[in-house]
Amino acid sequence: MAQQIPILDLSPEINELLPEFMAATERVLKSGQFIMGPDVIAFEKEVGQYLGVKHAISCNSGTDALVIGLRSAGVGPGDEVITSPFTFFATAESISSVGATPVFVDIDPATYNIDVALAAKAITKKTKAIIPVHLYGHAADMGAVMALAQAHNLKVIEDVAQAFGATYKGQQVGTIGDVGAFSFFPSKNLGCFGDGGLITTNDDTVADIAKMLRVHGSRKKYYNEEIGYNSRLDSLQAAYLRIKLSHIDSRNNGRRTAAQRYKQLLAGTGFAAPVELTDCHHVYHQYTVRVPAGVNRDALQEKLGKAGVSTMIYYPVPCHKLPIYKDLSAHCPIAEKAAAEVISLPIWPSLDEATQKIVVRELTK
Ligand SMILES: *Cc1c(COP(=O)(O)O)cnc(C)c1O
Repeated sequence: MAQQIPILDLSPEINELLPEFMAATERVLKSGQFIMGPDVIAFEKEVGQYLGVKHAISCNSGTDALVIGLRSAGVGPGDEVITSPFTFFATAESISSVGATPVFVDIDPATYNIDVALAAKAITKKTKAIIPVHLYGHAADMGAVMALAQAHNLKVIEDVAQAFGATYKGQQVGTIGDVGAFSFFPSKNLGCFGDGGLITTNDDTVADIAKMLRVHGSRKKYYNEEIGYNSRLDSLQAAYLRIKLSHIDSRNNGRRTAAQRYKQLLAGTGFAAPVELTDCHHVYHQYTVRVPAGVNRDALQEKLGKAGVSTMIYYPVPCHKLPIYKDLSAHCPIAEKAAAEVISLPIWPSLDEATQKIVVRELTK
């Protein structure tokens, strides 16, 4: 086959910034401070400033950020947490990990994010929190989420793993609810070269608990108070993240430019392009389209693969359909339909028009 188009190409950015990464590597190795060193402290300060949030607490992964964020917000055994089933498993897994029960409610078919009107109907006496997921890089309906949370005294933990730099009414997502949980997994919009995560909050008490939980539940070394985690960010990853953070706006804008081109190329083809609602700034972590009625999505994906175009299905099985959650008997037909119809196309900040034309040509053949 002629072309081989990956779903994500990290190499242009790595090559461009390699001298900076190498200099940072040398600096950290020579510093002898490998975990929670000065680069971690500096990164937390810089990322907190970028986001406009009082506390930015780094940790080992996005999953840990969710788990620690939930516990810091007081969520635990016996509680119910409302969330979307159309997300990466870690969202639901974190709820189960803290001993709470996920309550899956269906999604909005246009944005693929939680349908807040349905969330309102799912509230019970046990409901303690809601996790809106800003899927694919588009903000969930945070105005409605916050109004619902206020009316029912719920905590809001935002899953921002896919949406670094996205905004809602001009405000960075991850700074609107009680807690934001970010992932720096390499493929995310702001990714490091290993695992990494971030907990954000404007609440001093939440921040204090989160910092305690990430180091074995201790505020003072060897005076452990709680069963916590070993969930710290490496200095090397922090040093790389500092470099990448300084370029994040231009990278996210590159994704937006590519998304605009896809939208034009897809016009009139029957494939539904992603929407960007008024008041929302989409960062296109994924460029996910819906196949036209009557098209077999899996067969299409196979055909594209044979033509050298890599695509992904995020996500083929909504969480409520996974065997581990079948006893919850959640009813989410819109998420199930989306799971059968979505396909994510190649996207990265420097994706060029010629490559996009090939993708769309093969997609619509
Ligand atoms: C990637 C991701 C996570 C988990 O992040 P990790 O850093 O891989 O633990 C959680 N939620 C969503 C929606 C994600 O995409």
